[in-house]
Amino acid sequence: METQHRITLIYGDGIGPEVVTSTRKILEATGVQFDWQVCEAGAEVFKRGLASGVPAETLESIKDTRLVLKGPLETPVGYGEKSANVTLRKLFETYANIRPVKEFPGVVTPYTGRGVDLVIVRENVEDLYAGIEYMQTPNAGECLKLISRKGCEKITRLAFEFARSEGRKSVHCATKANIMKLTEGLMKRTFEEVALDYPDIEAQHIIVDNCAHQMVRNPERFEVIVTTNMNGDILSDLGSGLVGGLGFAPGANLGNDIAIFEAVHGSAPKYAGKNVINPTALILSGVMMLRHVGEFEAAETVEQALLVTLGTDKTFTQDIAGVGKGLSTTEFTDHIIGNFGKSYEGDRKRQYKPIKMPIIQDTQKAPGQRKVVGIDVFVESSIKPDEMGRDMEALIAGSDFSLKMISSRGVIVYPSPGIMPDLGDLFRCRFMIQNDAAEDIDHATVADLLSRLQCNYRWMHLEKLNAFNGTHAFSKAQGEE
Ligand code: NAP
Repeated sequence: METQHRITLIYGDGIGPEVVTSTRKILEATGVQFDWQVCEAGAEVFKRGLASGVPAETLESIKDTRLVLKGPLETPVGYGEKSANVTLRKLFETYANIRPVKEFPGVVTPYTGRGVDLVIVRENVEDLYAGIEYMQTPNAGECLKLISRKGCEKITRLAFEFARSEGRKSVHCATKANIMKLTEGLMKRTFEEVALDYPDIEAQHIIVDNCAHQMVRNPERFEVIVTTNMNGDILSDLGSGLVGGLGFAPGANLGNDIAIFEAVHGSAPKYAGKNVINPTALILSGVMMLRHVGEFEAAETVEQALLVTLGTDKTFTQDIAGVGKGLSTTEFTDHIIGNFGKSYEGDRKRQYKPIKMPIIQDTQKAPGQRKVVGIDVFVESSIKPDEMGRDMEALIAGSDFSLKMISSRGVIVYPSPGIMPDLGDLFRCRFMIQNDAAEDIDHATVADLLSRLQCNYRWMHLEKLNAFNGTHAFSKAQGEE
């Protein structure tokens, strides 16, 4: 008996219904059996006053089907709290965002003929996108970049597994580990450890800015690029730009239990209901979904028909053909179905296999020997650093702490470095524990330090300075010994 795939289908906002209708028609024309559970999310739901934009029935359906094909969801301005897209990704822990970047025949770009065919594997839930932000003073904002070892292991293993599933031979890891050694560096180190389990795949680290440069100059050198959330956001849009823009950029959000397939583009409201937009990105997301559920033959049928439509027939929607020219969305859809069974000559054929989603055991490292060696206290102040330093040293005289340094935006300003950087009103003051550091610091000692400082300064936040197994687990300021 044929398998029937149960899928939560969200039409979405703006051009969503048009691209979803097109994709649904094409997927159904393959003969694969689907049981679509049509659900709501997005603008209409926000308007009804639900701040998440995703109703309970939709969440229940996703928990049940564990597969979603969705159109874009508008993020309304003025009502609704968070993006419904982000809500879905986070709630269902779809930690990997997979964005293929492939040259399409007939879609002329400056890279035509170079065979660009790479995939960005972007970490999807951690990093600056956790959205943990504070104004520390009226003039200084802070955003926490939280990166976990487990998150890095999940995404890097997935990148290698993805490479294997498509017969790709190399994985690059793009980070800014040269600057952010503890967060981006964790990604790099984890990647290098995980790579040892995949000797069949070449693993290479690349600094993310150089990666951007290389993607523009020499994109064909990359097969898979795995990266942290913020880097991935930027690199994947750069990737879309190499191959014809948003109309051609598919995507999948994968978690161990749930997968959400959606185009990279948004709801493009100005084209809504006009039957002119390009449905290719969502059709290709549908192809990814077919492969995800093991329907490799049907996936190949759709992909080849699409390539023939573009490359052989030179048939396009108006984004490529020009305004007022080309096929409508519905004509383009039917044209692709008419090309089922045909094969595009110039395409590099791959042997696809199901992705083995990595199962990560409890990877929390035991802390080993740990000590708290000091405290960073962030204070708001408008006085000169020299004066502040001398004043603080007087305030803490006789306490358990010594003042090691004061920095402004990561650069040491006390003791004076000679050249003074531009100063704001937020300073980091590093207090080291004078006696042999303890495993933890008792609260009375911290309270004593804060009450001494509070005489003259408004403190904003604290960071404990840990040493794990004798190694300091915090960064130094620029210029700090
Ligand atoms: P957008 O909807 O992606 O549209 C930007 C432009 O990209 C369009 O004006 C159009 O360019 C082109 N474009 C996008 N999709 C196309 C398609 N299928 N065919 C042809 N051209 C296409 O970005 P936006 O205007 O910034 O965002 C609109 C709304 O979508 C916002 O509310 C945003 O939050 C939301 N959004 C949702 C998602 C998601 O659901 N995953 C993703 C991104 C944005 P031209 O004007 O040059 O023709």
